[in-house]
Amino acid sequence: MNYFSHNPLNRDFEARTDAAQQTHLWNHPQARIILIHDSLNLFVQQEDSITAVLLPREEAEVLEPVAKAKVFLGVADEVPYFALGFEKHPDVLAKYPKTASYLFRDLKDVALQLPQEQSAILAYARAMVHWHLGHHFCANCGAPTYNIEAGHVRQCSNADCGKLHFPRTDTAVIMLISEGDACLLARQATWPKSRYATLAGFLEPGETLEQAVAREAMEETGVQLASITYHSSQPWPFPASVMAGFMATASSRSLAVNYNEMEDARWFTRQEIADGLQQGTFLLPPQVSISYRLIRDWYNAAPGHQLEEVMQGLPERNL
Ligand SMILES: [Zn+2]
Repeated sequence: MNYFSHNPLNRDFEARTDAAQQTHLWNHPQARIILIHDSLNLFVQQEDSITAVLLPREEAEVLEPVAKAKVFLGVADEVPYFALGFEKHPDVLAKYPKTASYLFRDLKDVALQLPQEQSAILAYARAMVHWHLGHHFCANCGAPTYNIEAGHVRQCSNADCGKLHFPRTDTAVIMLISEGDACLLARQATWPKSRYATLAGFLEPGETLEQAVAREAMEETGVQLASITYHSSQPWPFPASVMAGFMATASSRSLAVNYNEMEDARWFTRQEIADGLQQGTFLLPPQVSISYRLIRDWYNAAPGHQLEEVMQGLPERNL
């Protein structure tokens, strides 16, 4: 399974519409609260390690009235989990727990250091809060919306409208395209130097996932695909996506790279990837990403090849 996919919570959708149950869960002595501020999660740094802060409810209580979003996430091992979300605002910052070692960080930068289940809960919380903060007003009539169903629906406050708004997830396709012993990787100018990743793009209305894979490959690199096979998916709340991952093969290695879309796209053989990693002239995408997973699975599919072995012992700057 991919990173952020190991969510252990029972989402308990029936409890979302039960006011008495919601009060009971919020007041549960074990209840844990996840804070999201300006799309960042709360962590505590202890020497070299970083751990997620899951606040006891009594510590989070002072924050509840100023939160812009409150979401019941679910229950695991009889412990209820909630998320409180805040927009960037100095007055709100002043109310945060006064612990010097607390810090807000981007989840995807620290997820490798967290237990898989915990990082999945944090990702879910981040996605829900992001949705709330971007949907204060009704897309139908412009009136303010308010939070119902324990944070899983927003309703328009205009009695003549009353439209219900549900959390949004944007579907993106991501694909490892190979031809013989080479795979097609690309980079954006804003990425760290030498980093390459698989092609990806958003699904457009009126197309299937497979059509989006073929279209994006053609638009970005001029490559025609011979086969497309579903691999796996990944919640990717950075800010609001689910990544649908595919393995594809190309009809040929001829390229017509669209340099308006990307800085570079090239074919890399397994040997070139291994050599580049060792020499520090080639960087893979972050290990928490499905892009890394697709590249790894393709790389390891050839007998005698193990990307983990290549990565082992590499200096930090090569990872
Ligand atoms: Zn409305």
